[in-house]
Amino acid sequence: MTAQPFTATITGSPRIGPRRELKRATEGYWAGRTSREELESVAATLRRDTWAALAEAGLDSVPVNTFSYYDQILDTAVMLGALPPRVAEVPDALDRYFAAARGTDTIQPLEMTKWFDTNYHYIVPEIGPDTRFSLDATKVLDELTEALEQGIPARPVVIGPITFLLLSKAVEGASAPIERLDELIPLYTDLLGRLAEAGAKWVQFDEPVLVTDISADAPALAERVYTALGAVTKRPGLFVTTYFGDPGAALGALARTPVEAIGVDLVAGAGADVAAVPELADKTLVAGVVDGRNVWRTDLESALDTLTTLRGSAATVAVSTSCSTLHVPYTLAAETDLDDNLRSWLAFGAEKVTEVVTLARALRDGREAVADEIAASNAAVASRKADPRLRNEQVRSRIASITSTGAQRGDAAARREAQDARLHLPPLPTTTIGSYPQTSAIRIARAELRSGKIDKDEYIRRMKSEIADVIALQEQLGLDVLVHGEPERNDMVQYFAEQLDGFFAPQNGWVQSYGSRCVRPPILFGDVTRQHPMTVDWATYAQSLTEKPVKGMLTGPVTILAWSFVRDDQPLADTANQVALAIRDETVDLQDAGIAVIQVDEPALRELLPLRNADKDAYLKWAVGAFRLATSGVADSTQIHTHLCYSEFGEVIGAIADLDADVTSIEAARSHMEVLEDLNAIGFSNSVGPGVYDIHSPRVPSTDEMVTSLREALAAVPAKRLWVNPDCGLKTRSTEEVTASLTNLVAAAQQVRPDA
Ligand code: GLN
Ligand code: ZN
Repeated sequence: MTAQPFTATITGSPRIGPRRELKRATEGYWAGRTSREELESVAATLRRDTWAALAEAGLDSVPVNTFSYYDQILDTAVMLGALPPRVAEVPDALDRYFAAARGTDTIQPLEMTKWFDTNYHYIVPEIGPDTRFSLDATKVLDELTEALEQGIPARPVVIGPITFLLLSKAVEGASAPIERLDELIPLYTDLLGRLAEAGAKWVQFDEPVLVTDISADAPALAERVYTALGAVTKRPGLFVTTYFGDPGAALGALARTPVEAIGVDLVAGAGADVAAVPELADKTLVAGVVDGRNVWRTDLESALDTLTTLRGSAATVAVSTSCSTLHVPYTLAAETDLDDNLRSWLAFGAEKVTEVVTLARALRDGREAVADEIAASNAAVASRKADPRLRNEQVRSRIASITSTGAQRGDAAARREAQDARLHLPPLPTTTIGSYPQTSAIRIARAELRSGKIDKDEYIRRMKSEIADVIALQEQLGLDVLVHGEPERNDMVQYFAEQLDGFFAPQNGWVQSYGSRCVRPPILFGDVTRQHPMTVDWATYAQSLTEKPVKGMLTGPVTILAWSFVRDDQPLADTANQVALAIRDETVDLQDAGIAVIQVDEPALRELLPLRNADKDAYLKWAVGAFRLATSGVADSTQIHTHLCYSEFGEVIGAIADLDADVTSIEAARSHMEVLEDLNAIGFSNSVGPGVYDIHSPRVPSTDEMVTSLREALAAVPAKRLWVNPDCGLKTRSTEEVTASLTNLVAAAQQVRPDA
């Protein structure tokens, strides 16, 4: 097999549509508003336009089969015949696919989880003892044929078997899915033959799992699988790619197989050691030098230096993005609100393709051939370095002086005493996590403010009326620590990003989060500073309506970083501390305004955990440090809460204790005992609120079941350390559900409460 090497490509591309066309079409189809024909025609148009743009921009190999109606792992499950038996009752293939993704009235959907350390979520395939793998190559062959007919140099992209199995979950007592790897080899062999027959010159197998420590055997498995697939006689050129980190030992393992091309992410991990793999000498090295998942413009000069170094170690060096551009918005051209400097520092999906093509041209024709592009890139680098928004010495020296004296609170017991004396809470105090139902009045007010139908004052008036309703409801329910309900927040990160200097919030920067869901992460580009209080007016207004304590509600620094595009010119830890300082100033202002309880949410603490074990401790150290910087500015008598959105702490359990919040509320989807015993085992001795009410379901939990949960919890944690709360915010629920559930929650607390 001798496929003509390619020189310029990208790993994959977004598919939701530049104007979220696919979102609208699929949601319309689910709701019965859009016909199947319309949906398919929107999809076909998006594919055609995407490929045409990539080929026109100058890529000599264009990824196809990166389109998806929902998710690429679910597509792979379909390709391998691995949908769960419970969806088989749906006769139509596309509806069956959507049933697996989203469920139906009678069918439970598959689980969804985070795609490595990105904010994309994939559908987790279930592999049971009865799963019989079989190849269904319809989708990939159709897309290949469609693209070839359009004259596109198409390269089908398929998730590799190791990644597929290691990301799947065993069900019904089946053994680990990866043990069935050998069963997939004949299917992939078959697939290679069909792709070759259909005219594919290359195929790309994605194996991002090779940059993680999920399985220590992965490099050896990769060597075995790709040696076998490499031996297939009738096949396209084989391009195996890794991304999101350093493939480590897997790189040498892949290089020892007959695959013709290997991809590495030179932004997120792989380094100089790539050049030291002798077996690369006769291969195409696909060098991911253009960042596929962050929004910064590539420094062409330094990328060219990297490419030039690599040149000696491989037969061909092809230029690519570090990973699929699925993770960045479509194009900078859609942003009209950017100043010229900031614009010059950025590259979204379309601009990254141009960078790839420019770099490939420089490799082929020499640097002089792209002198103008290099000059523009250098100017952007210089402008970014010189921009005053990137360095605020006052912020930097304040952080240095606080951290040098140790950003930590006083003794926990003394804090408890001071807080008890101030708050007079009953044992097993009841509270909620922050948000209350997003009523239609809230949505209308937001839309009318945006369209100019109402002014800011009217908007504030309406939000205050929402807050008053929520406070009245909580009074009536008899909760002990109240919240204002967060009606004014569109999103728990964007709300703060819009008020802090150093952030830019794109208008059209949509990125797929899962299925038809998109998010618009803010861009953190400069030193972060807080010009004015962000939440104090709302909190004090809420507090003025009640004698009970109202919790101030803030988002923590790690979560703000996790859900933003973050500057790449300094360590994440430094950026986290700047955000932390802004939050710290906010906590102090809240305290000075009379707020006695402040919650700092960190639902994303576990999300940012590095993919390699060796990097985890360093991450947890700065993450905890940033949280402590954010929360240690207040007096002992101010009670700090935090909220975490998961119950299986795994590797972050020690860090949760180190946060040293006075009260930690957590999900307790597993049993309460387990959650609390995990915490006890590491000596956690502050207060804890294991969620007794699953807000993810519309079901109203009974008083009895919450009493049972609380009794269970009391077996692990003394009454004076136990709080009673739902497991997350109530934003997605209806007021009726919330009223009924919280009535029962308060009744349960009263039943279990020891007489104080
Ligand atoms: N305070 C937020 C809320 O109640 C927390 C959200 C979250 O945990 N993701 O909505
Ligand atoms: Zn939560």
